[in-house]
Amino acid sequence: MPRSGPGGRHLLDVDDLSDDAVEDILRRAASFAAGARPHSSDFADRLIATLFFEPSTRTRLSFEAAAHRLGARVIGFSDAGATSARKGESLEDTIRTIAGYADLLVLRHPEPGSAARAARVSQVPIVNAGDGDHAHPTQALLDLYTLQAERGATRGHSVVLLGDLRHGRTVHSLAVLLTRFGNQVTLVAPPGLEMPAEVIAKCRESGAAPRQTHDLGEAVADADVLYVTRIQKERMDPADYARLSGSYRVDAALLSRASSDLLVLHPLPRVDEIDPAVDDGPGAAYFRQAANGVPVRMAILARILEKN
Ligand code: ASP
Repeated sequence: MPRSGPGGRHLLDVDDLSDDAVEDILRRAASFAAGARPHSSDFADRLIATLFFEPSTRTRLSFEAAAHRLGARVIGFSDAGATSARKGESLEDTIRTIAGYADLLVLRHPEPGSAARAARVSQVPIVNAGDGDHAHPTQALLDLYTLQAERGATRGHSVVLLGDLRHGRTVHSLAVLLTRFGNQVTLVAPPGLEMPAEVIAKCRESGAAPRQTHDLGEAVADADVLYVTRIQKERMDPADYARLSGSYRVDAALLSRASSDLLVLHPLPRVDEIDPAVDDGPGAAYFRQAANGVPVRMAILARILEKN
């Protein structure tokens, strides 16, 4: 399948990126994190639109910070209720319109597949900033970057993905990227929130099939990275949420079963799945992970804008 992402055009999921493209993004991100900046004129005439039809703190603000730090300008909205979507305008018509104003569109939308729909009608590149419970490729890239920044390598780790693996879009993109880069992935989810079969099939195609278990203690004992996610309350029946919330928690008792240098990651926001007392440990890297969103998104935007 032709790849359409940076180096091509749209970034809809991690499949759009070759291994070389991923490595190039991580290299550029490391250099931006170390303070490198483009020449002042490189992106000065480029305009990025952030179209957020769903709530966001980190993704939208780190994309906007990244655009500003590149010297580009930003327009956009974070409240779709204030746009013509409220009047019944289709996503396609909104995209066609804003593609006439900006050079690149960063889209977050509650419907799975919405980024692909946008790409079909857009003359400018679309970057998927989360489409429903489907995918979140730029989060997966910043997660991989964080592994490299914290542990010196993107490969060879034993990673536990914990939580709502069914509805969590970050873990859908990340599981595939991790297996492609030669990491061993173990999946731990409450009953009913297991990883979808199609994501497992993609992992199998791109490397190794992930291991699945309900025994978190045993999984953590063998891991060097624990990636925690919240239960996606907004994507499930309230009765299911009430039954499942609080069904797992990362705390000192759990971590006493793990290696003392276990790296703990979380895409955030956290609700109650990590005890705040864990934050003080050296392996608790989730706020450093969030900060990595800026250099990684600078790298993603720079690559696309250079070629389009
Ligand atoms: N912020 C991430 C996302 O947008 C994770 C989450 O919301 O749980 O998918």
